Formats: sequence, structure tokens, C-alpha cells
Amino acid sequence: MSKFPYLSPEQLENIALHVLYDFGINCDEQSTPMAIPIEEIIEFHYGLDFSWEPIDHFDSSGVVMAAIIPSQKKIIMNDTQKDLFSEKIGTMKFTMAHELGHWVLHVDDKENQQTVLSLEGDSKVFYCRSSSVKPPVEIQADMFAGAILMPKPVMQKAIANLKSTGKIAMPSLYWLAQLLNVSISALCYRLKQLDLLYVRDGQVYNSESDFNGQIAFDF
Ligand SMILES: [Zn+2]
Repeated sequence: MSKFPYLSPEQLENIALHVLYDFGINCDEQSTPMAIPIEEIIEFHYGLDFSWEPIDHFDSSGVVMAAIIPSQKKIIMNDTQKDLFSEKIGTMKFTMAHELGHWVLHVDDKENQQTVLSLEGDSKVFYCRSSSVKPPVEIQADMFAGAILMPKPVMQKAIANLKSTGKIAMPSLYWLAQLLNVSISALCYRLKQLDLLYVRDGQVYNSESDFNGQIAFDF
């Protein structure tokens, strides 16, 4: 079993931008945020197939949302979660992008799909859960998903534009989430990660330290 590599946030951002660039999306030239066609990238650019099947692989660490079987170049979306996915398109897209993250980051020998870098030893399948406590490979796949669906340069530009129009409130963020086809929680997490904005209890702050200052001030 080989150990998966540590990747810095910067490296993950660059890998995601590279995938988009290879597909023909140049984030530096993009003037308005747009939804990333993640299904097309996965199916046409990487030749991976989607399959909707029930995965009743439940354990205490959470419901399995999806899985990837690298040797079959197949992503299985959990059919039992279909209602959730159709209700929350952003969650579905994020899950798909997460699976692509495993393929890009954790499958070593893509010709033969022999070496799957996984914490679960010889496991040839990644089962991906909705749990909040995740092993490092899962965190990396999540970070990749955020970075590809909400590319750093696009986010920086979008928030700078919003800031130039005045104070940013939640409706602007809902609008942005809709443009990007991501959930509001994924967007807020990404904005905090990039240190662009901090959202807490429906209030938008410039940064987490601004929020902390606010609390200190109130006391
Ligand atoms: Zn996963």
C-alpha cells in the first residue's frame, strides 16, 4: 500500500485549474461566474461512466453518497439518495466533483487502474460518506470538488465585484451559488477557505477575524 501524497491547498487549487484548462475553460479569462459542466468533464474528458445504483452500505460514519470503482472507470451514485440529489442539485454536482477528485488525485496508474491510493488498505473502491469527520483522502477529494466548482480566480473576481457595489448581503450569495450551481453551504465554506468572506448566522463579514472583532466589540 502506498501512502497518498500530501497536497498543499495551493497545489490542489492548481490541479483543479489545470483540469478545467485541459477541458477548455480558462478561469483567468472568465468575466462572470458560471456553472462548471462537471458531468461533461467526467464523462467526455476522463471517460468515466455514471451509474445509479442503490448502495446500502451504511455504517456509523454516515450514509454513502457515492462510490468510485477505478478499475471499472465507474462512478456509482447512490440511487437511494436520489430524492436528496434531485432536490439539491448543488449537492449532487459536489458529490460528482468529489468522485472526480479521487480519480485525479488518488488513482496512481490510470492505464491499468492498479494502484488505488487509499487509507483502507487494498480496497479498490472508494465509498464516500456524508459524515463530518473524514479521513484525509476524503478531505482532499472535498477540497478538489470545491476548487473545481468554485475556481479561486473566479471567486476572487466575483467577490471583488460584489464588494465594489457596497456591502454584501445573503441574497447576493444565493445568487452567486445559483450561478455556480453549488449549495449555499458549499459556497460559504469556500469563501471562508479562500478568506474572501465569512458567513455566520445569516450575516456576511469580510473575514472571520472581523466576525470575532464584532463579538469582542459586543461584549
Ligand atoms: Zn470520497
